[in-house]
Amino acid sequence: MSETYHIAVFEGDGIGPEVMAPTLDLLQRLGRSHGFALAFETLPAGAGHYAQTGEALPAASLEAARVADAILLSAMGDPAVRYPDGTEITPQIDLRIAMGLYAGVRPVMLAPGQAGPLRRQGPLDFVLIRESTEGLFASLGKGEVEADAARETLVITRAVSEKLFRFAFRLAARRKAAGRGPGRVTCVDKANVFRAFAFFREIFDGEAARHPDLIADHAYVDAAALWMVTQPQRFDVMVTENMFGDILSDLGAGLMGGLGLAPSADIGDENAVFQPCHGTAPDIAGKGLANPHAMILSAAMMLDWLGEERGAPALVAVGEQLRRAVQTVVGSGQALTGDLGGSARTDEAAAAVADALAAETV
Ligand code: NAD
Repeated sequence: MSETYHIAVFEGDGIGPEVMAPTLDLLQRLGRSHGFALAFETLPAGAGHYAQTGEALPAASLEAARVADAILLSAMGDPAVRYPDGTEITPQIDLRIAMGLYAGVRPVMLAPGQAGPLRRQGPLDFVLIRESTEGLFASLGKGEVEADAARETLVITRAVSEKLFRFAFRLAARRKAAGRGPGRVTCVDKANVFRAFAFFREIFDGEAARHPDLIADHAYVDAAALWMVTQPQRFDVMVTENMFGDILSDLGAGLMGGLGLAPSADIGDENAVFQPCHGTAPDIAGKGLANPHAMILSAAMMLDWLGEERGAPALVAVGEQLRRAVQTVVGSGQALTGDLGGSARTDEAAAAVADALAAETV
């Protein structure tokens, strides 16, 4: 590998820069030891930038991100910084819409030995895909409120659903080939009650028919929530509508022990953003207490995606190595930050990952 990859970086607000800095260090270190280079371009956006300039996501930042090979984002927002209508700035959502990032990928992982919040919980490794551009969120800013009634409209389109399900089956095939799952895709919906979800399911079944080598099944969203807690091992790749995915992905983060361990990717046809599921944690910002692992795991997902997109399997392997290093650290119970019951600082947790990487390459 001698390629240079151009990475757009949004450091964000609050703990954002605190978890981004050690992640970029780890990526540079991996680049040096594996013969690839990452050129980072830090772009202005976020609540701090809005407070200074009146712009949350400058057009120039959006364009620079669009032409980058991938986008790394920590977290943006500050409850004290709001638009005149009282809502918070959300450039991370603006990016999803502007770039058509329809597949919100939320892995749920618990390595052997890693303590989860449930009493009887074995290792976990499944992925929830949340459609991220339509569904109930298509109504964003368009809801109607009258004196005695309020309406929001859910939209599901054939074009986006077909792309979403193609993505889900491709991911299940890759996981199966990597020995990480049986190759099962579960469509999570409410097709027993709503016609829009019957439509969603019909499109899913159409895509499933093209993959006789993979398993396709369905779950109603209420049962899926129950099974995520009582029998999570039944899932491999789950795919669902935006609002259902919004809720279930936090349940997935809960199964891992919290937001500090939950990475994510928002993937479209041309661009992809990799970011932790957590926000800017104003309560602990500036204290060096943030858990960097969700950000580091998001960077591992970026290497994996870049490797797949650019036909560079070595990069996929490096992403896998970084993911394993985080799992080794968390599974060992060492260098845990406060959210996981430890007392390590951000830099100590990240240094433990660097040590685990070094131990693996010796
Ligand atoms: P939050 O995720 O920032 O914090 C929730 C709780 O989890 C807090 O107690 C926090 O200390 C803890 N926490 C979060 N990440 C942690 C980490 N890495 N290590 C240790 N503890 C961690 O959610 P919130 O308080 O609802 O939101 C705060 C701000 O973040 C708001 O302005 C919100 O709009 C924004 N936000 C941004 C994103 C994003 O950029 N993707 C996502 C969610 C919230």
